[in-house]
Amino acid sequence: MRCNFFLAIFLIALQLPAQKKYPQDTFRPPLEIPLVLAGTFGELRSNHFHSGMDIKTQQREGLPVFAIGDGTVTRIKVSHWGYGKALYIAHPNGYTSVYAHLKKFGPEIEEYVKKAQYEKQSYEVEMFPDYGELKVTQGGTIAYSGNTGSSAGPHLHFEIRNSVNGKPTNPLLYGYEVRDATDPTLLGLYGYPLSEGALINQSADKIQLNYTRQSDGSYLADKVTAIGTIGFGINSFDRLDMAANKNGVYAIKQTVNGRVYSEFDFDSFSFGETRYINTLIDYAHFYDHRQKIQKCFKEPYNHLNIYESLYNDGKIKVEEGVSYNTELLISDVAGNTTKLIIPIDGKKQEEKISKIDKTTENFVIADKPNNFDLGAAKVYFPASTFYEDFFINLEKGSDTITIHDNSVAAHRNFTISFDPSKYSAEDRKQMFIAHLDSKSRSSYSKTYKRDGSFTTRTRTLGTYTLVKDSIAPEIKPKNFKEKQWLSNYSYLSLAISDDLSGIDTYSATLNGKWILMEYEPKTNTITYDFEDNISNETECELKVTVTDNVGNSTTFVGNFFRK
Ligand SMILES: [Zn+2]
Repeated sequence: MRCNFFLAIFLIALQLPAQKKYPQDTFRPPLEIPLVLAGTFGELRSNHFHSGMDIKTQQREGLPVFAIGDGTVTRIKVSHWGYGKALYIAHPNGYTSVYAHLKKFGPEIEEYVKKAQYEKQSYEVEMFPDYGELKVTQGGTIAYSGNTGSSAGPHLHFEIRNSVNGKPTNPLLYGYEVRDATDPTLLGLYGYPLSEGALINQSADKIQLNYTRQSDGSYLADKVTAIGTIGFGINSFDRLDMAANKNGVYAIKQTVNGRVYSEFDFDSFSFGETRYINTLIDYAHFYDHRQKIQKCFKEPYNHLNIYESLYNDGKIKVEEGVSYNTELLISDVAGNTTKLIIPIDGKKQEEKISKIDKTTENFVIADKPNNFDLGAAKVYFPASTFYEDFFINLEKGSDTITIHDNSVAAHRNFTISFDPSKYSAEDRKQMFIAHLDSKSRSSYSKTYKRDGSFTTRTRTLGTYTLVKDSIAPEIKPKNFKEKQWLSNYSYLSLAISDDLSGIDTYSATLNGKWILMEYEPKTNTITYDFEDNISNETECELKVTVTDNVGNSTTFVGNFFRK
């Protein structure tokens, strides 16, 4: 019965344009305030496409969040990073709504979560309530908006996923009213010579191309001369009406002499493919300039399923004496479209700008495993760590090694193994593998210590070294003092920090009983809510223990009174 229902939806979906595939006007908005977006679906984020929309909450936390439809809670997750406090609600029409970075949950769900946290003695929990165990009705308050997890400011991250295959879909395709009459903004156009001997304006390397705005609002590129197989890439963003935020565009379509060469859009994608974003954008350009150019051609190692149509993978074979008219259409969900015309003349030409020679002593063959001995450490890249073969820059050292730089994207984890045998057993205890950024600031890379070797798995290239952390974490009360009366206080808060390896675990007791401390790494704060009612004694002893990633530990003991 259920299967047939979804099959029917699927068959309808095949015949209808994007918008009509999804239920219209079934779901209400998750907030009471007008929907103003700080982020759109498919937006280019670091190593992933944005899987929902970010709704601005007027720089505030604590706005009531409503269930967009009747349903049942299927998943609750509380974590320090990522979605922070997140709630998943399955609806009978086959979609699941997701609400993230929440400050707290609605009363019934909050109680359910607290119970689990006290049972597991952990702030971080993940639960999958039984179907129907936690029912919600459309418009019911299920949570309060916040800024938890990897969120840079108060907002609601909101998603609608297909409940069957788990794919996130574009929430703007469900009939939500978001004011947008503004065309996408074009920031830059780039030409890519792709085949051996291909040239664009006498360049064998990627080249930026000029364009001017026409009276009808479209853009016209200066005439391009080219030969061989070439492709184009653009840097663009979309601005909506009510906010200055630079959001992602919805679709890019490329036609050559009237024929569609490539077209992709952000109706939906799968989490399994999201990291292939690094093959859609010009990754090296992003490393150099912090700009995300989207390629209008598909690289051989690009496994994204976002393409509506492709001809010759979006690559244009330019022949001598032939003219080509390329049109790029960049649009948002509301249908506002920016048009760019690129006239191309096929012409043999002299090469004036050559490809930058990137030859080094070492070469990585992407589809084979690769091992390198760099003195202080060995590096192992499993097959398919990288998208393509390339010359890798490796620097050996007695303490520090450098593995290329992040102008190349790693798709999978690779392994770095340090030999710590020259250090004493005492030193080794407090040492860890650190990644050093361009300013030599170290960050902890999860270090596994086994007989005679320290190992880490990472997808970040660059410089690694061993660092010793001999300083234990710090714990300082934030809103109370020793022997203070705290009768009117609703919470206790303390600052916890660690200088080098970072905080691994923390725990607290009140008069010997475990209490829930909510940890907010962004503000280095742990907070206890007196409403949890763990102790009703007048004399209270608070004990907090924090341990860093190499095992240095600090215990704070404080006393206060409360009636
Ligand atoms: Zn978001």
